[in-house]
Amino acid sequence: MSAPHVVVVGGGLAGLSAAVACADGGARVTLLESRPRLGGATWSFRRNGLSFDNGQHVYMRCCTAYRRFLERIGSSSLAPMQDRLEIPVLRPSSRGTPTLSWIRRGRLPAPLHLGASLLGYRHLGVADRARLGRAVLALRALRLTDPALDAETFGSFLSRHGQSEDAVAALWDVITLPTVNLRSDEASLALAAKVFRTGLLSDAGAADLGWARVPLSRLHADAAAEALRRAGAHVRTGAKVAALRTGPGPSGATSAVTGVVVDGHHLEADAVVLAVPHEAAAGLLPAGGSVDPAALPGLGRSPIVDVHVVYDRRVLPYEVAAAVGSPVQFAFDTTRSSGLDPADGQVVAVSVSGADSEHGERPEALVERYTSALATLFPAARGAKVVDAVVSREHAATFRGRPGTQRLRPRPDVGVPGLHLAGAWTDTGWPATMEGAVRSGVAAAADVMRSVGRERAVSCPGALHEHAEEVVA
Ligand SMILES: Cc1cc2nc3c(=O)[nH]c(=O)nc-3n(C[C@H](O)[C@H](O)[C@H](O)COP(=O)(O)OP(=O)(O)OC[C@H]3O[C@@H](n4cnc5c(N)ncnc54)[C@H](O)[C@@H]3O)c2cc1C
Repeated sequence: MSAPHVVVVGGGLAGLSAAVACADGGARVTLLESRPRLGGATWSFRRNGLSFDNGQHVYMRCCTAYRRFLERIGSSSLAPMQDRLEIPVLRPSSRGTPTLSWIRRGRLPAPLHLGASLLGYRHLGVADRARLGRAVLALRALRLTDPALDAETFGSFLSRHGQSEDAVAALWDVITLPTVNLRSDEASLALAAKVFRTGLLSDAGAADLGWARVPLSRLHADAAAEALRRAGAHVRTGAKVAALRTGPGPSGATSAVTGVVVDGHHLEADAVVLAVPHEAAAGLLPAGGSVDPAALPGLGRSPIVDVHVVYDRRVLPYEVAAAVGSPVQFAFDTTRSSGLDPADGQVVAVSVSGADSEHGERPEALVERYTSALATLFPAARGAKVVDAVVSREHAATFRGRPGTQRLRPRPDVGVPGLHLAGAWTDTGWPATMEGAVRSGVAAAADVMRSVGRERAVSCPGALHEHAEEVVA
């Protein structure tokens, strides 16, 4: 049997993981990416001799598909994980010295692993701390596959279970914002519950954090390009797919996708994986499948803004820190990945999720606000010189994970022979994350290989919706 030809459209994490899995499964793979680079929503740029990422990217130990992908492309040592979850959370104080408390895991099994740190969490009053258990128990009792979860915001669920506005701002949003890319009062309960259940309430080590210590383009794009080259795949950047080509299906009765149109040429394929953002997919999906392309823009957009500050000295005494009661949400020490010698200073990346208002602001205003906010949180920043600062913005960093989005997220098999969907926005059960993107890519690859009669070629352990099998203790 000759090797089937699979065309993957889109070189983000979904497309890269689909392409690797199909190539590993024995397919002839062509990956087409419209931009001049791979990596999709994860990329890096250079300025004044240093490297900056378009946005800080973090994963958790429970992101098993993403971690397997890093291993496969030989990158996992470049994005190490904390030994155990440990995040300092600071709140500015009028007395000058900020209040510090920690979210860290102890030695007990989940969910008690966070008990000691939450009972001592100084950013909440005693009454709010005492009420946390009520919401935790309610979260653990949810059935994650219940469609009703996508009809309510996480904020309204928290309020129904005794959480005050202060508790939401000082604790729940510290986790909801960077994972769902919305505040609890707008985020779908379905997505937030997935994050809290999988990351914080299932296994004690699940939320240990990992992130790249090299530029994202090296971690993902360069490493995946090399892995694909070795696997015999053909990668083309600057190759925008203008249309999917359709023709008679295998039975002759239905219309099937038989290839793509790129640079004015037809490229034939036994199967096409469409791994582009939802708005691009809306313009490419053929009529007749189970997905209504006109509905996809309803998934919306949620922006992320990062402010990168180069200081002449070390100001941030942690690798990562969170803040409450401050414009800063998370700050990372990115000195190593930027390429700056620590003897010459420190690079701090402030990551702002759900950045609707920040997205439209002038860079000077953002730099002024965030350097001032860093100075209130980290005393060493008060006397430090800002050597350089740059703002990166992604207006469509993720889809807008509010209630009602679940029904707009299709599975890989869209009911058109020859066509398979992937992307962080598809129905992975996860918010728009690197984990969701890779899961969708591997699931699409498994679908492809099944459709060409090579179902054993791609293993898809714990693929989409593994939470369907979750057992609530
Ligand atoms: C600033 C920022 C911070 C983030 N932080 C985190 C984080 O901390 N943790 C986390 O897990 N996730 C994070 N995310 C989300 C994560 O990056 C994305 O969910 C994931 O990378 C999306 O991958 P994807 O392959 O689905 O889509 P994309 O990365 O968008 O890839 C789609 C690709 O398709 C290409 N394309 C589009 N149209 C065509 C066409 N016609 N022909 C050919 N190619 C086409 C695009 O150019 C693009 O490269 C963040 C995202 C951003 C932007």
